[in-house]
Amino acid sequence: MAIANNQIYTTGVFSPIIDKCDGCDRIIEVESQKFCKTYSAPAAKWKIGICNFATHAKPAVLTSTIKVNPLKASKRAMGKK
Ligand code: SF4
Repeated sequence: MAIANNQIYTTGVFSPIIDKCDGCDRIIEVESQKFCKTYSAPAAKWKIGICNFATHAKPAVLTSTIKVNPLKASKRAMGKK
């Protein structure tokens, strides 16, 4: 018996999305339930942080606040060959 394209999500292999998935472009709605097109267990993807395939959330990027004196940096660069 062949399974129609989207019917695979309702076979029990795929778990519904969780609250944190709301807004993601990978969500697919089948029979009034929402599933992830990429992962079968969305809750597991959020267990250790942000889901790495989420399209609506990105991890915060830490930027350094160390200031470099351009004159000293130039002199330092000239000294190295
Ligand atoms: S890709 Fe990640 S955030 Fe998006 S629906 Fe799937 S599990 Fe949720």
